[in-house]
Amino acid sequence: RAEIAFIGRSNVGKSSLINMLTGVKELAKTSQKPGKTQLINHFTIDDRWYLVDLPGYGFAKVSKDKKVKWEKMISDYLTNRANLCGVIVLIDSRLEPQTIDLEFLNWCGEEGVPFAVAFTKADKQSKTQTEKNVRTFLNKLVEIFGETPDYFVTSAEKGQGKEELSGFLYELVSEFEAEGR
Ligand code: GDP
Repeated sequence: RAEIAFIGRSNVGKSSLINMLTGVKELAKTSQKPGKTQLINHFTIDDRWYLVDLPGYGFAKVSKDKKVKWEKMISDYLTNRANLCGVIVLIDSRLEPQTIDLEFLNWCGEEGVPFAVAFTKADKQSKTQTEKNVRTFLNKLVEIFGETPDYFVTSAEKGQGKEELSGFLYELVSEFEAEGR
């Protein structure tokens, strides 16, 4: 079955966005794959695909050891999943471009992990400010990749971007199925 992963800095609004997309507060967690860390949650969406909730990065206070473990777990996961259609990288729309986010996106590019960007918490500031921040961030990505990736401006609070992002997720799943993987 196809899978799509969600990742971002802790507190970026990942749980809220996942709840918005799935429309339920408490999702039934599927049983963990043997050998997989408990930190990776799998949410069954329907019989076509499931959503994978990856642990957040960028905790302010975390030991070097934990950071290395996190990086290994995430890179093992993202580079070894035959059924992974893509990863949705969450970016807080209120912030200036953060190095940790740019580094992670750069890494996805290098590893050939297909990704799209979801800007979160768009309701937290004026529309103009959100647009400005989004544009600044996208410009950084154009510097890195030479093109603008797929992106979505969302607010879990207001339900903004729900249709666009869900539509995109189903497109990814359909492409995956069409490839007969
Ligand atoms: P996670 O750590 O990435 O899973 O982040 P959460 O989903 O738990 O959200 C972190 C905080 O941001 C919580 O206090 C949420 O209520 C708040 N939050 C998340 N999404 C939004 C949003 O779209 N708008 C607003 N105003 N607050 C949000």
